[in-house]
Amino acid sequence: MTTARKFYVLAFAFAFSFLQAQQPADRYIVITVIDGARYSETIGDPAHRYIPRIWNWLRPQGIIYTAFYNNGVTTTTPGHSSILSGVWQHIANDGSEPPHNPTVFEYYRRYFNRPPEDEYVILKKKKLAILANSDSPDYGQKYAAAVSRVDASVAYKDSAAADNARKTLLTAHPRISIINFPETDDAAHQGNWLRYLRAIRKADSLIVDLWKKMQGDSVLRGKTTLIITNDHGRHLDSVENGFVDHGDTCEGCRHIMCVAVGPDITPGTVDDEQWEQINIAPTVGTLLGFPTPQAPGKPFPWAEKKQFKRETAH
Ligand SMILES: [Zn+2]
Ligand SMILES: [Zn+2]
Repeated sequence: MTTARKFYVLAFAFAFSFLQAQQPADRYIVITVIDGARYSETIGDPAHRYIPRIWNWLRPQGIIYTAFYNNGVTTTTPGHSSILSGVWQHIANDGSEPPHNPTVFEYYRRYFNRPPEDEYVILKKKKLAILANSDSPDYGQKYAAAVSRVDASVAYKDSAAADNARKTLLTAHPRISIINFPETDDAAHQGNWLRYLRAIRKADSLIVDLWKKMQGDSVLRGKTTLIITNDHGRHLDSVENGFVDHGDTCEGCRHIMCVAVGPDITPGTVDDEQWEQINIAPTVGTLLGFPTPQAPGKPFPWAEKKQFKRETAH
């Protein structure tokens, strides 16, 4: 081979590897949020009475975090925004204020030059439409996620949220999605303890069904990482009106569940180190292969292991 020819071959190989690096990894990430479930009624309950399917079915296949926290504002919109941006968002809870740092949706679309349909915010709570994009300079609306809404008449019904999620996930196959299950928080705010517990159980069941549906889908099977968490917990019984409300810095409001299952996770893992909501965005970035420069947290180690494999494969 002549020197010139060698040069062209090398240049082509270099360009090709660069182009390859601009493709997202073959992964789909689904974040499900059980709105306002307290740790003592989820993983922290020794009998796991209200999350039997997650506990018995998903946990053995994945990882649970026993010291996972919302250390920002313990309400819905800030909680979801901190998960998606990897930066604590001290924003209004009524949907009037967008996140101020880019979400994983914006990082992803900008880095890979991809359309909005690659990512979905799947809604029940209308105010969460603001999760589609931040108002961060250089990001924002032009890199927003698509939003999948349901009829307002079935507001706060987790079954409607799950139906919407199933349809969206199995038809659009979004790379990144977040799904809010609102019923638990709604029941608790009404002061109805039994309805609150029933709502957690229902979300438990709906999320495991959703996982099974994804594993039956030829695109998503074996390539999907499911993260189950909360936006916030609720007051400890000893704080103010206890489970009915939330929003301060008590242990009950901050300590939340996190369970993850997916192809890069060693089955049956328990992680008791302290992790926070802001570790999720860098984890999503690492799994799909895009940077999240404004997010200070580190990704979960199992996601990095995957990234390492990706880099050495080239
Ligand atoms: Zn609430
Ligand atoms: Zn509290």
